[in-house]
Amino acid sequence: METVDVLVVGAGPAGSTVARELAARGHDVLVVEEHARVGHPVQCAGLVSQRVLDLAGANSLVVAAVAGASVFGPSLGSVSFAADGPRAFVIDRAGLDVHLADRAANAGARFRTGLRFDRADASAEGPIVCELSGADGVRHAILAKLVVGADGVASAVARAFRLRRPVEVLPAFEAEIPHSPGDAGQVEVYLGNSISPGLFGWWIPDGAGGARIGVAVTAGPVTAREYYDRLVRQVERRFSTKLGSPTALLVSGIPIGTLPRTSTDRVLLVGDAAAQVKPLSGGGIFTGMRCAEIAAEVADRALRSGDLSAAALAEYDRAWRTELGDEFQKALYLRKLFLRLSDRDLDQLIEALQGTELKASIVAFGDIDFPSHVARQLLLQSPSLLRLFPKAVSAWLGGGPALAPDLERGPRRTAQ
Ligand SMILES: Cc1cc2nc3c(=O)[nH]c(=O)nc-3n(C[C@H](O)[C@H](O)[C@H](O)COP(=O)(O)OP(=O)(O)OC[C@H]3O[C@@H](n4cnc5c(N)ncnc54)[C@H](O)[C@@H]3O)c2cc1C
Repeated sequence: METVDVLVVGAGPAGSTVARELAARGHDVLVVEEHARVGHPVQCAGLVSQRVLDLAGANSLVVAAVAGASVFGPSLGSVSFAADGPRAFVIDRAGLDVHLADRAANAGARFRTGLRFDRADASAEGPIVCELSGADGVRHAILAKLVVGADGVASAVARAFRLRRPVEVLPAFEAEIPHSPGDAGQVEVYLGNSISPGLFGWWIPDGAGGARIGVAVTAGPVTAREYYDRLVRQVERRFSTKLGSPTALLVSGIPIGTLPRTSTDRVLLVGDAAAQVKPLSGGGIFTGMRCAEIAAEVADRALRSGDLSAAALAEYDRAWRTELGDEFQKALYLRKLFLRLSDRDLDQLIEALQGTELKASIVAFGDIDFPSHVARQLLLQSPSLLRLFPKAVSAWLGGGPALAPDLERGPRRTAQ
């Protein structure tokens, strides 16, 4: 049977990052990817911060720089923000995956595409026997000292090792539109319970005269595809023009809510497999890559010491939560507040944000990787915004209870 130090399952940004870091430290790393081509199919809008470009060394993959954003309420009232330089970047997302895989391969990691991790015996002692299958249906077995599950939102590794899955997965639907009537340097966000309940709709320039348009929504009887159709109608109203037929469609899911554990005996989860996704935006490239770096540091020590026990690997859980856990918790809390807003509230929110001082704060404090900072700042700054939220929130913001108030007992928002 083939034997490796580390089997990384999934050649997305998190998998290739952990593979590169471990291979560079001298470990024998094999990455398996179920699809025939790394980076395909694309399942992402590809909007990232400078941090991602720095982590990936991928400035050349930028297809458009974004210096402004407009947010539209359900009634199409809007507020626009303009910074004096690029604040986010649209990248060639398939290119990012290929670039990261190349870097990992150059560091010594081996890649095998068209090979899917199916299951493993989670109860056996010692190195793990993993069962995989090729695109041709041929079965393979690989013995690994450590398995890293970087296999995305529906992680088979998490399932095999009985690591709990995210509380919520938002179905998402995105399309590429070849001709954009919008501003090539501006992102648009569409709010509304009948368009994108649970998150938002987006319109992102693709740098080639077109746009990526999509929604992620709370799972329910109405499909993400139907919400996408409603978003298209909303965007057509906003631009007063019909959008052309899409050239590519994408269906996927976004995990929301951190897992209680992202490691166990001889196993680590990274990226979407570990639900390391920003709850206010659904973005997960920065968080997944950063957590993959942390995972590699912990895995390197564990492999060197020969202690790959759950207790030793739990250091990974502690380390990434120390760095990002606070932002995740605040963002999850703010998301709960957001979910309580009716369409009327959302329109009022847009109106309140039109105030010059608030707009200035958003431009000054806005950071797509740490959105809770600006959200908290805005709530503190604006009594009219606070009126939209329960009283308990003012106490939390004012430094009252250390923990955010429990919202479970409060009233839920109405459907519209
Ligand atoms: C519609 C949409 C838009 C998004 N837009 C953005 C955005 O603009 N900015 C941002 O930061 N984030 C965005 N995200 C989130 C972002 O795409 C993910 O957080 C990121 O891709 C996670 O990286 P990953 O490496 O953990 O997982 P993935 O990129 O999902 O990679 C997982 C890899 O594992 C492979 N795999 C899965 N199962 C197996 C198996 N059993 N065996 C072998 N291989 C397997 C998959 O084929 C895939 O290549 C978006 C997500 C969606 C759904």
